[in-house]
Amino acid sequence: MKNGSDLKVFVTTGERESTCCECGEPLGRGAWITLVEGKGAVCLACADLDHLVFLRPGDAALTRRARKHSTLCAVVLEWSRGRKRYERQGLLVEEQALQRAEAECLADSEARARRREREAQRRAELDRQYVEQFARRVRELFPGCPPGREKAIAEHACRKYSGRVGRSAAARSLDAEAVVLAVSAHVRHAETGYDRLLARGLERWEARREVETQVREVLARWAGAQPESPQG
Ligand SMILES: [Zn+2]
Repeated sequence: MKNGSDLKVFVTTGERESTCCECGEPLGRGAWITLVEGKGAVCLACADLDHLVFLRPGDAALTRRARKHSTLCAVVLEWSRGRKRYERQGLLVEEQALQRAEAECLADSEARARRREREAQRRAELDRQYVEQFARRVRELFPGCPPGREKAIAEHACRKYSGRVGRSAAARSLDAEAVVLAVSAHVRHAETGYDRLLARGLERWEARREVETQVREVLARWAGAQPESPQG
């Protein structure tokens, strides 16, 4: 049973009337039968398989576990006229085996959900630490940056990298160059007409060249010792 030699149960096509060759009962259309060599169709009651329950495919873990726990197991096959071959419809397994498998899968899914939650919390915590460190670095390098701006820049940098497979090493290490890049991008969008130029249809490199001097000036001011008062 457990090494691939499942019993086979066939769904009859029901094109012709047939009877169980043991009890003589008519099988009817679409009956589930086993085939006994040299005899023919046998109904599930006669085959002692009528205590089994049907399990549809679709949940690999459930199927694997139900099969493992079931002493008797049968594959249900139906002839496909279109494909000209027997196709699996599901499994017949013992009810207790199915219940046990369902319980295991339920327990698992809860454990999996808890693990996902822990991982999400851990990521959020890492992100929070990263934002704080990044913001501190911005403040160190640009002490003249308007109050609160370092947080916005750090949050943006964090969002930018957190979705990627392992943040870029430079950004993670809070390398001065990576921080300057993040601050420059922020200045370009927040302190110059860069976005308006893009909206007007300028190429990125053209727009960048237009605002280059302005960005440099703002960075130089922010690198000075005194925080700027926020502009109204
Ligand atoms: Zn029978």
